[in-house]
Amino acid sequence: MEDCVFCKIAAGEIPAEKVYEDDLVCAFKDLSPQAPVHVLVIPKAHYGSVTDGVPAETLKAMFDAVAEVARTTGVDATGFRCIANTGADAGQTVPHAHIHVLGGAPLGESLA
Ligand code: 5GP
Ligand code: ZN
Repeated sequence: MEDCVFCKIAAGEIPAEKVYEDDLVCAFKDLSPQAPVHVLVIPKAHYGSVTDGVPAETLKAMFDAVAEVARTTGVDATGFRCIANTGADAGQTVPHAHIHVLGGAPLGESLA
């Protein structure tokens, strides 16, 4: 989708620190991290949010990527939080489906 920052990151058109990638999804470090580990997992195709018709195969690939990112960053051992802000009241700022993966320290009440 034109003018979507996450589509551009998925396509490699703007830089991001990618930590995982496969045919359906990619994962990269959040530009303004809210925890020592703060990674965003996105589908490569454009969907407005995680509830905007993302195919089951892609949703599975997203959560498989969450697990892989948790393993490679080490937060699988200590715990982590997944957040999918959806819509205005949740504070979704980028209208391309994404899951925040946060960890690396006790998170308290923090909301990405
Ligand atoms: P939301 O508020 O929509 O759930 O989360 C969007 C997230 O995307 C924010 O945490 C923000 O820091 C991150 N973000 C926005 N633009 C960019 C970008 O160009 N690169 C990276 N790596 N992260 C971004
Ligand atoms: Zn997009």
